[in-house]
Amino acid sequence: MQKAYSRREFIGKTFLLGSVLLSAAIALSECESKKSSEKEEKKDLKADPCEDLSGLSKNDIEARTKFAYVKKSPLPDKICSNCKLYIPPRDGKECGECLLFKGPVYPSGYCTYWAPAG
Ligand code: SF4
Repeated sequence: MQKAYSRREFIGKTFLLGSVLLSAAIALSECESKKSSEKEEKKDLKADPCEDLSGLSKNDIEARTKFAYVKKSPLPDKICSNCKLYIPPRDGKECGECLLFKGPVYPSGYCTYWAPAG
């Protein structure tokens, strides 16, 4: 024999189902939002590979800070591309490197260890 649903059971089950669907929709929405922000980040790195520090360790990144490296030199005549320690871009890369620390370096960059080339 089938049991008839009471109004209270019907409302309770409907509310529970609605809550589950709403939670799933919110979770899915957040997941999509996270994916699109990750894509934006990757797009930014592709747009400017000199900002890509993804292959560096925490110590490598700290070294860049320790030398006070900046991507745009405050002194127009003292830039990485005319520094003795600068390694020009190679293998088709767009950024140079520095002998002092790891990671990409802007030709227009600068740090406190700048030394005239040549
Ligand atoms: Fe640039 Fe400083 Fe390295 Fe020279 S030592 S290439 S100024 S980061």
